[in-house]
Amino acid sequence: MSGVGRPRVVVAGLGDSGLLSAIHLARHVDVVGITAKPGLVSGQELGLRVARPEDWAREYWVAFDRYRRLDPARVVHGRLTGLDLDRRTVHLETAGGRALEETYDALLISTGVTNGFWRRPHLQTAEQVGTDLMAAHARLAAAGAIAVLGGGAAAVSTALNVATRWPSARVDLYYPADRLLTRHHPRVWHHVRQRLEAAGVRLHPGHRAAVPEGFECDRITEGPVEWTTGQPSAAADAVVWALGRVRPNTGWLPSHLLDEDGFVRVRPTLQSPADPRVFAVGDVAASDPLRSSARNRADRLVAANIRDHLAGRPLREFHPPGKRWGSVLGPQHDGLQVFAPSGRPFRFPAWSVRRVLQPWIVRRGIYGGVRPPTEG
Ligand SMILES: Cc1cc2nc3c(=O)[nH]c(=O)nc-3n(C[C@H](O)[C@H](O)[C@H](O)COP(=O)(O)OP(=O)(O)OC[C@H]3O[C@@H](n4cnc5c(N)ncnc54)[C@H](O)[C@@H]3O)c2cc1C
Repeated sequence: MSGVGRPRVVVAGLGDSGLLSAIHLARHVDVVGITAKPGLVSGQELGLRVARPEDWAREYWVAFDRYRRLDPARVVHGRLTGLDLDRRTVHLETAGGRALEETYDALLISTGVTNGFWRRPHLQTAEQVGTDLMAAHARLAAAGAIAVLGGGAAAVSTALNVATRWPSARVDLYYPADRLLTRHHPRVWHHVRQRLEAAGVRLHPGHRAAVPEGFECDRITEGPVEWTTGQPSAAADAVVWALGRVRPNTGWLPSHLLDEDGFVRVRPTLQSPADPRVFAVGDVAASDPLRSSARNRADRLVAANIRDHLAGRPLREFHPPGKRWGSVLGPQHDGLQVFAPSGRPFRFPAWSVRRVLQPWIVRRGIYGGVRPPTEG
């Protein structure tokens, strides 16, 4: 329930960054979270998601009513359709098909990006999320030859995880440069290549896939795959398109809030230069060249800045590291390897991932408490 006279913050999009920001804000201001999905459906760990969907869902697909610190917020299941800056109002269509408006004192835009088959901004019920999840898994489980296209973390983690999950499948990883993970420190590539080769993934540098006309890389297809780099076409039973062709989910926003690529322009404080009541965080925010405010945990900073803005206090700035960092391969049988911006790996042993990292560091420390799932 809303407190009387407290400022109201609309959080537009409750994915990884929006959810955390809403959690930080909910004790201090009235939060209305608007979300196309019925819970957190994280964009993280694609490889684990397709290879072991039950394990992935335990940490990365979580109903909103399980987050204790989100309890004071009002969560609206709907799709944002417009923004009226003068009236401080967002427009949305609810899951039931009704048109609604919500007014705000401050707006946080965290609608993320569309990427591949696994990050799409359409309205979904819990059943539809579950069906999609299992369909991708079943498609790959039935494939004798799997081609993964792309050179970033999503492609690498998919190739490794499907190769270890289905050792009899042939797994080919095709990427355009001479190495993978070009936005990470070169040391990361060294470590990751060893893991891929040990798992039997066949590496194909210098292959740039030709994307068929009109195809948005939004589903798993069958081969053959053609190349713009001249090689003969490649056959596969299942092709995962992980080309990193991200599109910002900003079609509902006025264009003067956006940069030339359609991302939300922000100052280092994550505040819009066009409207001081508007902030952005996560993959949708043009905060730095890597748009890294999600993985660099700027949710806390943007929540503090929104409160400071509402109270007339000065704002703090986001300072991202210049290289990508974090987990690339996701949890494996020997633990979870996390790479620092310097490329140096740090490993959480397997026992500690289930017994310390997830329950204590992630669920308690990062999210402030997550209830067990209800049966049924
Ligand atoms: C704790 C944490 C750890 C991380 N660790 C790593 C790591 O180790 N390695 C790494 O590479 N990255 C990591 N990341 C970053 C991660 O890969 C992505 O950058 C992150 O998932 C992006 O989050 P987001 O909130 O911007 O987008 P999303 O999680 O995609 O959220 C956007 C949400 O908005 C919704 N939406 C979109 N349009 C609309 C609309 N019109 N109406 C309503 N809802 C809409 C979408 O459906 C979605 O739910 C981490 C992020 C976090 C928060």
